[in-house]
Amino acid sequence: MPIRCEIVTQERLVYSDMVDIVVAPGADGVLGILPHHTPLLTTLQFGELVVRKGAEEHIFAIGGGVLEVRPDKVTVLADAAEHADEIDLARAEAARNRAVELLAEGLPPGSDRFAEIENALKRSSVRLKVAGKKRRTGFPPTDVSGSR
Ligand code: ATP
Repeated sequence: MPIRCEIVTQERLVYSDMVDIVVAPGADGVLGILPHHTPLLTTLQFGELVVRKGAEEHIFAIGGGVLEVRPDKVTVLADAAEHADEIDLARAEAARNRAVELLAEGLPPGSDRFAEIENALKRSSVRLKVAGKKRRTGFPPTDVSGSR
């Protein structure tokens, strides 16, 4: 029996479906959530979230947030979330390069921008990693001729 998974941000509903398992980047490590999981509330790290439904697999880049588990529903309130197929690779590369350059240049003593730049680096790195997996997500379904 499946469990509902909803991934939402302040801007939009990113994903909603009945699924078999959700694997999420919890604050204390990777969490695998099956139907009838114990109720749980945790923060999320920057990382990849995987949803499986039968033979389908969807991978999302998650930019932190909160995850709530109830027996029949997993809700992800993400600060940012994109499906692998939605990620703009050039934009993520540019964001990572910007962050790397800023860190390499060094920040003035006492600057409060370190965490902000480090987070931009983490977000862009997760996007690049997840985007690299987009051909294995089964979204859209693989052509039966195997041409992909
Ligand atoms: P950038 O510097 O490129 O704007 P960012 O990490 O500052 O990246 P966020 O603040 O995390 O961006 O996100 C702003 C919005 O843009 C969110 O809706 C997020 O899903 C989307 N977004 C950010 N980067 C990408 C990307 N590479 N591909 C697709 N959507 C993205």
